[in-house]
Amino acid sequence: MEKRDWSQFACPNPHCQVVGQRGLPSIRPHGWSSKTQGIRCLRCTACGTNFSERHGTPLFRAQLPPAQIADIAQHLVEGTGMRATGRLCGVSLNTVLRIALRAGEHAQAFHDQQVRHVQARQVQADEAWAFVGKKRQAL
Ligand SMILES: [Zn+2]
Repeated sequence: MEKRDWSQFACPNPHCQVVGQRGLPSIRPHGWSSKTQGIRCLRCTACGTNFSERHGTPLFRAQLPPAQIADIAQHLVEGTGMRATGRLCGVSLNTVLRIALRAGEHAQAFHDQQVRHVQARQVQADEAWAFVGKKRQAL
């Protein structure tokens, strides 16, 4: 019998009465999303929704191995450009863009879940760097 802690998972069904609530006994393993990769399918007993344990993560429905997705994300975190990341990791630009979008959405959801009740009096945004394209030549 498999002994894993499922308390970190929550029902993703927006119509469920316990949507987004972690630590409930209503999330149980329910077969496999991919048995060869060891990805469990979970079921919310409150509403009957089945979902992958990777739902809502950058790995959900990914064709690439998780280690390669982590490599791509690491290049992006270090500030490597999208096209350069694609060349270095041997994937297309669209793949890099898709992984960047999914990782960003996941990071935002993680941040919204973890950072609460912070009353900031002063915010410094000087650590954020971005490339801004120049459309016209300076005269
Ligand atoms: Zn549910």
